[in-house]
Amino acid sequence: MSKKFKIIILLIVVIAVGWGIGKYTSPSASESNGSNINVGDNLQGEPGDTGESDGGGITDPAVADPSDTPDPSEPSSPPESGGDNAGSVPDPISAEPDSITVMVNKQYGLPDNYKPTDLVYPDVRFTFKEKIEKRMMRSEAAKALEKMFAGAEEDGIYLAGVSAYRSQATQTTLYNRYVERDGEEKARTYSAVPGYSEHQTGLAIDVSGSDGKCAAESCFGGTKEAEWLAKHVGEYGFIIRYPEGKQDITGYKYEPWHIRYVGKDIAAYINEKDITLEEYYDAIPVSK
Ligand SMILES: [Zn+2]
Repeated sequence: MSKKFKIIILLIVVIAVGWGIGKYTSPSASESNGSNINVGDNLQGEPGDTGESDGGGITDPAVADPSDTPDPSEPSSPPESGGDNAGSVPDPISAEPDSITVMVNKQYGLPDNYKPTDLVYPDVRFTFKEKIEKRMMRSEAAKALEKMFAGAEEDGIYLAGVSAYRSQATQTTLYNRYVERDGEEKARTYSAVPGYSEHQTGLAIDVSGSDGKCAAESCFGGTKEAEWLAKHVGEYGFIIRYPEGKQDITGYKYEPWHIRYVGKDIAAYINEKDITLEEYYDAIPVSK
């Protein structure tokens, strides 16, 4: 009799505990969504004084693992267009995240946690030594970058990479820190919202002179390196992504250091016509 009683008590306890776990795990699991990102101790770099925050002086503690890539056979979903512009994506190619001509700006983002599958370390000088995430680019862009750096050296111009690929997680860490410091409205003027940074495509890189002076800062404008870039990037398939006087279209102030690989044909077209990627796609101007 007492054995049977013990079994019944045990059953009640098991059911009660199971119910308790079920009740308390589901809400807390959803609460932890993205809200507790740890800002690394050494993430105290200041944002550049203009344009898209590139975290030039920031050493990301996360070491990128090139083997940690999503299954390439898995088709990536198209990016969501900005709410009030649904249906106005100008060209399907601009919305294809794996296309080298993808357009990412404050209006057109990437699929959540998009990561290119072909990131490599370009064999060029950087302003830092570590083999970390921000040293990586997609392979085609990396090859073009190597040729461009070599071409610059033939002209006596010694370039250095500052910041290339940036994962959504890193952008989230940076963005959240800027929002905490300056408030969301101000942070948005100089930092891309996670998922909307061109650096996440692996096709963009910030470039400076080999001394790293004025890296991702407005004083880079007018240097011999900036002048060389403005004149020659197109020959290697790059464009100056945020040209002077085009802020109303690109959404960013002039960034003479931020170059974007689009391939030689489109680069030649864009540079010859003196237009932006947005104008190339005849997209709706981005004002904020
Ligand atoms: Zn940049």
